[in-house]
Amino acid sequence: MAYDNDNIFAKILRGEIPCNKVYEDEFALAFRDIAPQAKVHTLVIPKGAYVSFDDFSTQASDAEIIGFVRAVQKTAALEGVVESGYRLLANHGVDGGQEVPHFHVHIAGGERLGALFSRR
Ligand code: 5GP
Repeated sequence: MAYDNDNIFAKILRGEIPCNKVYEDEFALAFRDIAPQAKVHTLVIPKGAYVSFDDFSTQASDAEIIGFVRAVQKTAALEGVVESGYRLLANHGVDGGQEVPHFHVHIAGGERLGALFSRR
């Protein structure tokens, strides 16, 4: 899947759409989810143009991957959920329910989260 430069997170990265920023460095931008599913629900995205986790993990440089992982940790720390705990989630593709085609990790916490998967 080719990267869509007009996806909503690309527009946030370019500053064309505002976001509630939590953290930013040369590798990543973290901001609050517009429709939070937990008391803390923050998204971390790489600065590079990667569609999904699959794209990022196979195409990004080692420095980008390390920088991104460190940014996820810094964001969790800034959100105050390291001690209490949090969930990391990255949806990939159709079955994963990925809505925005720019790789992102969800940090969810600030309260006890329910089961990861609903029982069918
Ligand atoms: P996905 O389903 O792709 O893993 O998650 C996309 C997330 O992006 C959703 O949780 C959704 O609420 C969030 N989102 C979509 N559009 C915007 C936006 O314009 N701003 C922010 N801050 N979050 C958004």
